[in-house]
Amino acid sequence: MNITLQEAGAKLLSAEKIIITAHINPDGDALGSSLGLYHVLKDMGKSVEVIIDDDLPDDFDFLPGYELIKKPEAEKYEADLLVLLDVSYDERIGRLREKYQGTVLNIDHHGTNKGDVDYLYLDADRAATAEIIYQLVQELKVKVSQDIAYCLYTGMTTDTGHFRYSNTSAFTMRAAAAMLEAGVKAEVVSEALEKRSYKEIIDRAKAMLTIEQFASGRVAGIFIDLPLYESLDTTEGYIDGVRVLAGVDVAILMKEIEPGVCRVSMRSKGVDVSVIAASFDGGGHIRAAGCTIKKPLAEAKKMLLDKVISVIGTEPQKEA
Ligand code: 5GP
Ligand code: MN
Repeated sequence: MNITLQEAGAKLLSAEKIIITAHINPDGDALGSSLGLYHVLKDMGKSVEVIIDDDLPDDFDFLPGYELIKKPEAEKYEADLLVLLDVSYDERIGRLREKYQGTVLNIDHHGTNKGDVDYLYLDADRAATAEIIYQLVQELKVKVSQDIAYCLYTGMTTDTGHFRYSNTSAFTMRAAAAMLEAGVKAEVVSEALEKRSYKEIIDRAKAMLTIEQFASGRVAGIFIDLPLYESLDTTEGYIDGVRVLAGVDVAILMKEIEPGVCRVSMRSKGVDVSVIAASFDGGGHIRAAGCTIKKPLAEAKKMLLDKVISVIGTEPQKEA
């Protein structure tokens, strides 16, 4: 059932033992909102664990509490509350779903969240789940420590493309300002997130060379086959290299992550890409969405492009 922010705060207040989780393939908002809430609840004297069923990108190892995040290796998990952040109660929480049978509180900002949980607080107007956690901090009247601030600021900056995407609101800027007032140094976060190894720079160049344009340049994508994917350490930020191409409305990153399984990221300047992602059982936001297509790269590419081109209402017209 849908609940209010106040009710979400009350659920947290009345629970003693709390497990926090977020989506697999965790990004800055998944990690930042999880660790931010972790510090809030710790400061309230709760027993808290953050469990995420995936390897963590080491770009975020500067986040206070990063080293405390565990994978769900135990047989079974019990707590007063499982808090699910930045994700819906779907396949994207991994093994914790089968290992925990208790009450679930879901806090999210994805408009595609279908909400099949005990309690859902959803606000699709918030650019990041970290913004909602900031609202909860105010609701719970907890002081924003420097640790909380680093985590929440990171969620806000990453989900807004560093305060550049259209989801960046006056609320975002005020919330980020509060994080700076609580001791965040903006350059500590940006330098940690920007730094790339020599190999990563060469890898990114190889991936960018796969760029192709479609529909008179309104659609463009990079398509990473399995051998190239396996040689990469990260694809973080690659989609931004496509998004900036002049004339692009829909930017695509497609990568074959195992034989016959392709992960898709999309960014848009107008078209609702969450609808395209949802048609492949994915989801996200109007201007940033993703999905998995269980087909080999060439087939997945054709299926996705057919859909994207039908949505933008233009005839296929390849201009590689
Ligand atoms: P990204 O391209 O950065 O992985 O994801 C963009 C947005 O789409 C994020 O908000 C992310 O949570 C959402 N998203 C990405 N992949 C999926 C997916 O497979 N399913 C759902 N429901 N959302 C996704
Ligand atoms: Mn998010």
